[in-house]
Amino acid sequence: MDIEEFRRRGKEIVDAIADYHMTAPQRRPWTNLTPGYLSELLPDSAPELPESWDDIRKDIDRAIIPGLPQATVNPHFHGFFPLGFSFPSALGEMLSEGLGVVQFMWRSAPACSELETLVMDWLGKALNLPRAFLSKDDEGKLQSGAGVIQGSATEAILVAVLAARKRAAFKLREKRRDLSEQQAAGKLIAYASEYVHTAFQKCCMIAGVRYRTLPTDDDFSLRGESLKKAIEEDLQAGLTPFFVCATLGTTEFCSFDNLVEIGPLCQEYDAWLHIDAAYAGSAFICPEFRHYADGWEFSDSFNFNAHKMLLTSTGCSCMWVKNRKAVTEGLDSGARPTYSRPSEEESDKVIDYNLWQVPLGTKFRSLKLWIVLRFYGISGLQKIIRQTVELARKLQSYIADDERFRIAAKPHFGLVCFQLKGENELNRELFVRLNKSGKLLIGWADVRGIFALRFSVNAAQTTESDLQFAWGVIRDTAEEILKAHEEHSPN
Ligand code: PLP
Repeated sequence: MDIEEFRRRGKEIVDAIADYHMTAPQRRPWTNLTPGYLSELLPDSAPELPESWDDIRKDIDRAIIPGLPQATVNPHFHGFFPLGFSFPSALGEMLSEGLGVVQFMWRSAPACSELETLVMDWLGKALNLPRAFLSKDDEGKLQSGAGVIQGSATEAILVAVLAARKRAAFKLREKRRDLSEQQAAGKLIAYASEYVHTAFQKCCMIAGVRYRTLPTDDDFSLRGESLKKAIEEDLQAGLTPFFVCATLGTTEFCSFDNLVEIGPLCQEYDAWLHIDAAYAGSAFICPEFRHYADGWEFSDSFNFNAHKMLLTSTGCSCMWVKNRKAVTEGLDSGARPTYSRPSEEESDKVIDYNLWQVPLGTKFRSLKLWIVLRFYGISGLQKIIRQTVELARKLQSYIADDERFRIAAKPHFGLVCFQLKGENELNRELFVRLNKSGKLLIGWADVRGIFALRFSVNAAQTTESDLQFAWGVIRDTAEEILKAHEEHSPN
């Protein structure tokens, strides 16, 4: 494809994307295809000879687009936490791809590396994160903290676990010189709530460290008492507590661990505190929601996904650390490709993000985030968050006004878990029927044995009238189910 054809095809693709968004409300929010559908539409080997762009485009429309769920574009999609999208972000992504940038060291793309540090400072300030997480102090001097954009919250947890593992194994070996680094790591143990995202277990497994998930209180919150008990038991058993992953906004119910209690314990026992706020973190750009993060000053690392509520597309998980050296040491195997080593005069002036993340090279992730922050401004993003909360409150009021329903877990931000009063089976039936209808998509949650409907509001695409539509469908479907049950009841 030469430059002129690219110019023409590129414009067509932008038109196709715009049409896709315009027609989204008319499509099913979730695909009803069966597994393996694609192998019936596409050949099982790559073509020997080049194919025309027109033929490729036809197959995109025929085979690929129908297999895409509508999570980011459809106003009736309430199944997952929002998966961020906005047109400015899409333009940033296109630019990043089109400029062909790869970042693996400062010199490979200085704008990329410096914009990442800058935009993470902007966002850190917008969240009012503790100053120690920013790259510069009040006088503008470089300090030990800074932000990095990871591809996912899972990668952020992994990086934090690896940094904490190296630090803790080093300290343990100072006391126990007989232990190798591997043996020391074998004595470490990490903790999180029973409602932590399974990313935590996956990361501990990859890092080769033990972990425990701990009971929570009636609000599904991990409390200090539960953590202290586990730590004391493990110390007795000869283990070394080294890492706690606290969640602000759990996936299941959007519950919040108690940082004010957990934080001081982490300091007392010298454990790294990581905060996973993948979903809820965006909301802290609104001052009225920051109380949810009380105690975050105790943490060593914090992350949230801008690609959830902050209108930025996937691959934009924002992570801040207070001690960047701990991170780079944690991920440094000692072996480094010669081409990715900074020159001596550069090494203490620049951030080489390749030692902050699992891959060596990444895309220009900061560009779309910087564009989104500028295009909407903090006030525009706050507006979206507040609309999300407002719509979720509306849904709660519909539920409260209908005596056949009840809230199943205390709602926070855009997540509302509720149920039709009665047996789990009734709610399972409601869930299946709703999703089969093709009119909307919702999720479900297990609220300590209760099958609840899990409704995620995404104000970036859903309006109040969409919400009223969804509630109408839920109410009518529930009515049909209740009626059918009454007719079949023996009395
Ligand atoms: N942590 C929480 C609280 C989540 O809700 C999720 C996903 O929704 C994750 C972690 C995993 O996110 P990612 O796909 O960015 O790894």
